[in-house]
Amino acid sequence: MEHPRERTWDVVVVGAGHNGLTCAAYLAGAGLAVVVLERRGVVGGAASLEEPWPGFRVSPCAYLAGLLHPRVVEDLRLHRHGFEVRLLDPQMFVPIDDGISLVEWRDLDRTLADLARWAPGQVSGYRALAGFWDGIREALRPGDDRDLWLMEAPPRELVEQRLGGDPAAIAAVFEESVVDDLSRFLDDPRLIDGLASQGVIGTNAPPTHPGTAYIRFHHMCGRLAGGSGDWGFVEGGIGMVSIALEAAAREAGAAVFTGSEVVSISPGRGVMLADGSWVRARAVVSNADPKRTLGLLDDTPPADFAARVEQWPTDGCSAKVNVALSDLPVFNGDPISTRSQVDVGPGVEGMVSGHAAAREGRLGRPWAELYLQTAYDPSVAPPGRHVLSAFVQYVPYAWQQGSWDDHRETVAQAVFDEIERWSPGFRDLIEAYEVSGPPDIEAKIGLTGGHIFQGECLPPYMWDRRMPYRTPIDGLYLCGAATHPGGSVIAVNGRNSAMRILRDLGETPGD
Ligand SMILES: Cc1cc2nc3c(=O)[nH]c(=O)nc-3n(C[C@H](O)[C@H](O)[C@H](O)COP(=O)(O)OP(=O)(O)OC[C@H]3O[C@@H](n4cnc5c(N)ncnc54)[C@H](O)[C@@H]3O)c2cc1C
Repeated sequence: MEHPRERTWDVVVVGAGHNGLTCAAYLAGAGLAVVVLERRGVVGGAASLEEPWPGFRVSPCAYLAGLLHPRVVEDLRLHRHGFEVRLLDPQMFVPIDDGISLVEWRDLDRTLADLARWAPGQVSGYRALAGFWDGIREALRPGDDRDLWLMEAPPRELVEQRLGGDPAAIAAVFEESVVDDLSRFLDDPRLIDGLASQGVIGTNAPPTHPGTAYIRFHHMCGRLAGGSGDWGFVEGGIGMVSIALEAAAREAGAAVFTGSEVVSISPGRGVMLADGSWVRARAVVSNADPKRTLGLLDDTPPADFAARVEQWPTDGCSAKVNVALSDLPVFNGDPISTRSQVDVGPGVEGMVSGHAAAREGRLGRPWAELYLQTAYDPSVAPPGRHVLSAFVQYVPYAWQQGSWDDHRETVAQAVFDEIERWSPGFRDLIEAYEVSGPPDIEAKIGLTGGHIFQGECLPPYMWDRRMPYRTPIDGLYLCGAATHPGGSVIAVNGRNSAMRILRDLGETPGD
């Protein structure tokens, strides 16, 4: 087919992010006529593949997979479409002091044995911390149909009920800061400094902010590897998830068009493309974030929904630095570090002041999470060469003085300083690099404010407080990270939205 206007569709999906593709695959699999329209030249949104330097394949945004829902992997047979994941072990490496590093292995006992060497007094607290959150994962996300992530909009009462009414668990999931949560179990500031960063991933709040304990949980409740919450590299790059989803969607009968920007949405009727043509459909589902979606409407939305979307928090504070390297850097003198995700940064106090600085349009000492995919998967770089991807906070959206064009280099050098601290000589390995701040992410991927989750994942914006799959506007649905269960490469948002649409259109969902 040469142009999507050539027929009338049941559903048009605006955007081929991984969630849009997932939604399309389920809808087409149920027999609907589905078309996906993507403005970029590639599929995947924040989980796509680019080749900024010959032979180096990087994602402009996401790097690690851990929350991708096994139900989607299974239903859409993603392994048949080339999806493979290599789990990290260790999962996390945080340099603490000369020759001392926090090493989180997949095996808890191994982590505790390492910890016993430099912080023996913390071992029982660390074990209790892990056990406490494992219990919460089992309660909220059991590995079966009772998984709250598979439900449409679980209310807080249901979450509390699943937590057995336990006040400590309820406070941890809904109220506590990550620093307070860690401090209930641990009293060595080195350890709290090392772990607190996991409570602010993609989140425009310091680790002392209420609700950041949930952010840490969000990132360790994945079931991709069973019940362990582990993360890994997707073979060929995380964009391969989207490429596998596209293959699954096409196999199910969906049509996918890239380079097809939607400029207007007419719910219940269809969408208009940038070339002025109309693509007709009974329902429109948008993978774009809610602010962008509402901006495309051809009519005035209901005032209360418009106000809710207007207030949806999308102030991004994260940057990405991708680096081509001539060799793998080693951190804190430990070769195992290259096999792990490595966290470097200023600790809790430095993050609090770094967040405050970014709010004022300045850069404090950054925290950076580093991924070295070539340690596991050399296919993403030319032979003998390597890639490092740094996820960086906190950066301003707008600088007090100057623009991002003036400050990309400031950010790169500040990140390289943090790396050099633990990996002297790192700068000598650099062959090329690229920096994307929130406005770059916004311009390239379409994420409003550059917010990596299409809106904060703090507790006031989760569960039934997240954006609805079915909007109050007839014929308009959402399926992106702004919906339950939130941001990251999860894909179940797209799946759940498809279930809602199938029910509304009178089709029988396959679940
Ligand atoms: C810097 C960064 C690092 C991250 N790191 C990780 C990580 O390591 N692991 C992880 O799990 N998650 C990570 N995330 C989060 C994760 O990538 C996102 O939450 C997730 O990919 C969002 O997917 P989505 O399909 O919901 O939406 P998106 O990826 O935002 O896709 C939306 C799509 O809609 C398209 N679109 C928008 N408007 C239109 C229009 N008018 N017409 C046509 N198409 C349109 C866009 O081009 C885009 O392709 C990261 C995100 C960022 C930004």
